[in-house]
Amino acid sequence: MRTARRFLAAAILAATAITANATPAAAANPTHMPVPAKGRGCDYQTTLQTTLRALHEDPADWSVVDMADDPTIAGVTRYPENTVRMNAALPCDLIADVARHEHIHRVQWAVFGRSDAKTPLEDAFGGDEEVERVADCGAIQLGAEYTYYLGSDPTLCTSRENHAARLLNDWWTAHQAGA
Ligand SMILES: [Zn+2]
Repeated sequence: MRTARRFLAAAILAATAITANATPAAAANPTHMPVPAKGRGCDYQTTLQTTLRALHEDPADWSVVDMADDPTIAGVTRYPENTVRMNAALPCDLIADVARHEHIHRVQWAVFGRSDAKTPLEDAFGGDEEVERVADCGAIQLGAEYTYYLGSDPTLCTSRENHAARLLNDWWTAHQAGA
């Protein structure tokens, strides 16, 4: 596991070499996704638990909470504990996609995390924006259609971002297989 993890880290570092215009973001911890426009209703817990099973996630690391104090946040992955909080007010048809994005953050942390919160992720991916874009690209690879950070960017994921996201998803798959 340790050897595989180092290998992956090296591969992702190579895949996400810092771009010329990468802007070092202020330490933004925890990460979050703003709440998008309202969608249709559904059963929140059923939708979330179905999604978590498909992702081979541990539901114990996920909670659904009232975020009335900051209602613009859709989901939060907290470091270093690497747990996710989903906004209970999230439109139901976006629960799965937000969960996919936060799941990638958990994998990012599983590979690169240290005790100093988000800094190692920014170092690994080339800034906070790249941490978020790779999370969106990984979520797309898992079937997501809603991606906040890619927004209306016509190029969507770059080949480098897709490569980093694929390595993360492959690592998680191998991790689940006990590799
Ligand atoms: Zn995020």
